[in-house]
Amino acid sequence: MYIVLLGPPGAGKGTQAQRLAAATGLVHISTGDMFREHVRNGTELGKVAKSYMDRGELVPDEVTIAMLLERLEQPDAAKGAMFDGYPRNVTQARALDEALAKRGAKIDRALLIEVSDEELVARLGGRWMCRRCGAVYHERNDPPKTPGICDRCGGELYQRDDDKPDVVRARLEKQKPPADLIEYYRERGVLRTVNGEQPLDAVTQALLEAIGPWPSA
Ligand code: ADP
Ligand code: AMP
Repeated sequence: MYIVLLGPPGAGKGTQAQRLAAATGLVHISTGDMFREHVRNGTELGKVAKSYMDRGELVPDEVTIAMLLERLEQPDAAKGAMFDGYPRNVTQARALDEALAKRGAKIDRALLIEVSDEELVARLGGRWMCRRCGAVYHERNDPPKTPGICDRCGGELYQRDDDKPDVVRARLEKQKPPADLIEYYRERGVLRTVNGEQPLDAVTQALLEAIGPWPSA
């Protein structure tokens, strides 16, 4: 089963992807996490990606698609995956569909998480992330047990550079899922929309219901 999570920055894609991956056994693939790892490791790709990320812009498709398709070749994604933050546009969606078609697979669900702008700004301003494992927290809504320390792996928590107010504004202007991308998945009959402005557990529950009966369940 292949699932994409769609939604504006701060909608809860990363948070919910981790919960859904735990519930379904699907591997969680986040292009944002992959870019952040490249930035941390100082790779050439990281340098290119950072120049876009710092401005709240999307990294060019050519670079993003190549990175994603390489990740898809890893054995842990052979039978399914949960994509978070990819695709951001129809070009990326088509590239993913073509790669899946080659293995006789397709996107089974596109889950759109909807949240108002006001709430997105509040969420991104209070987001903390683990440097080591990428776990996501919020200083008020979902705090770690010990401030600054990841519950999952004990890693150090930090606030993302692109969660500063001026970059957040740019991201909310430039990075909402475009209408033609939503339409792309609607036409294929796989789109489900979930209200993301509910407590974390309620959103997880709604997403699991939207995924529907799980093959191995
Ligand atoms: P995305 O991956 O879509 O950018 P995240 O999963 O990183 O979003 O969530 C953004 C912030 O909002 C995080 O600080 C997270 O803890 C918080 N958050 C996520 N879902 C909810 C929710 N349902 N209610 C309140 N806060 C949430
Ligand atoms: P995210 O963690 O999903 O909020 O992504 C962080 C940043 O990485 C974004 O602001 C973009 O600059 C970049 N990025 C992540 N995923 C993609 C993608 N699929 N296409 C282009 N840029 C991306």
